[in-house]
Amino acid sequence: MNIIFLGAPGAGKGTQAEMVAKKYSIPTVSTGNIIRDAIRTGTEMGLKAREYTDKGHLVPDEVVIGIIEERLEKDDCKNGFILDGFPRTIPQAEALDRMGTKIDRVIDIEVDDETIIERMSSRRVCEKCGASYNLESKKPKVDGVCDNCGGKLVVRDDDKPETVKSRLEVYHKQTEPLKEYYEKKGVLRVVEGQQDIEDTTALTFKALEE
Ligand code: ADP
Ligand code: ZN
Repeated sequence: MNIIFLGAPGAGKGTQAEMVAKKYSIPTVSTGNIIRDAIRTGTEMGLKAREYTDKGHLVPDEVVIGIIEERLEKDDCKNGFILDGFPRTIPQAEALDRMGTKIDRVIDIEVDDETIIERMSSRRVCEKCGASYNLESKKPKVDGVCDNCGGKLVVRDDDKPETVKSRLEVYHKQTEPLKEYYEKKGVLRVVEGQQDIEDTTALTFKALEE
């Protein structure tokens, strides 16, 4: 099954994507994680991308399209994959169609802006391995320390309140039109994000099965 997760930044699509990946044993491809890895290791793409991510802007389409094209060719994507954070614009969705990939389901996780702004303030990320946490809903076992690797947990540069506002604006303007794009193809399923992660996961699984 080839699945796309749509939703505003901080709606919890990354977390839901991970749950689905476990259940179906297919990989999650997160452009956000790939870009952050590149920034951390200081590659040329990372240096360029940072100018956009820090401001809460989207990285140019041709850059992310290139990343996805390369990633989806790998063997582990042959039996299905989950896209988290791609496509985010109509041209990206059209490029994905041109790659000849059939999309079976698009899960749109809906959460209102106010809740998102609240949630982002409690979001933390491991500076070493990139794992995500939330001080309210997905706490690390030890305060400020990553469960996976013992790295330090920090606020993502683009999770600062000013940047979050700009990311939400970008979402409404450039990404939300994708709902209609996939609705027309008959593959869109809307999931109302719940307060408890497990409740959202149950709705997500249901949306994938129907
Ligand atoms: P979010 O929490 O906003 O879903 P991501 O981790 O998916 O965050 O992405 C972080 C940043 O990486 C975005 O704000 C954007 O600058 C960049 N990015 C990720 N995916 C894309 C994409 N498909 N197109 C353009 N930029 C992207
Ligand atoms: Zn870590």
